[in-house]
Amino acid sequence: MYRAYAPPYVQKTGLETLMGPPGDAFGSKARFNTLYTDTALQLKHSKPPNCERIWNEKVGITLPWRAIWKMLGTFLTNPRDEEAFFKLLHRKLNTRTKDSRSTTKRCRMKCGCLETQLHLVAECPKLGFYRRYATKFLKAMGVQKEDIDPIYTWIFNLDTDLKPLNKAAQAFLRIALRTLYRHLTQLEVNGAPINKSRIKRDIANDFMSRILAYQLYRRNYYPCLLYTSDAADE
Ligand SMILES: [Zn+2]
Repeated sequence: MYRAYAPPYVQKTGLETLMGPPGDAFGSKARFNTLYTDTALQLKHSKPPNCERIWNEKVGITLPWRAIWKMLGTFLTNPRDEEAFFKLLHRKLNTRTKDSRSTTKRCRMKCGCLETQLHLVAECPKLGFYRRYATKFLKAMGVQKEDIDPIYTWIFNLDTDLKPLNKAAQAFLRIALRTLYRHLTQLEVNGAPINKSRIKRDIANDFMSRILAYQLYRRNYYPCLLYTSDAADE
């Protein structure tokens, strides 16, 4: 029954070979698959993963989990792009409240709050620039401002009615989160200061590179499919 949780590209393994630079996509495949296997093992025992219950408690409603798991994978993202989002859903982002090695549980952005999964992605006032910047992209991709929810959108890529955002908006948020998390990790590990302009530039560049890769894929593979299909033989 819980098979529906499996990300489509893991079931079919087509996308990761087609999308994105190979080094990029393959570099994290093992790690991503480990995460996925953990989920699959949990699901095999016919119980939803714990993260569902905990997230439901945190946000105070029953979230549409079936729809959320089905949202994994977009036409623009490779598995590595999806990894931070996947970890977030599983509550496995490396936040200070989770990390036993961390000497403090206060947010690395020095806002004074506890650094939880929810705080880091949706609530940290010092990361408001990230959400404001992402909001501009979402609006450009047809998401109405009033449909952007302060929690559901940033954590689960859902709108205020708990419906999944369109695929392009989902792809953007996965890539933006991946980029943000990379910078937050560098801050934590190397003490590299957060550079807002750099983060915004990286998000835009990463998103653009996926769009260009997709266009290239369409250009290279569509004629190929056309001329090798059965239809072409007729
Ligand atoms: Zn904070």
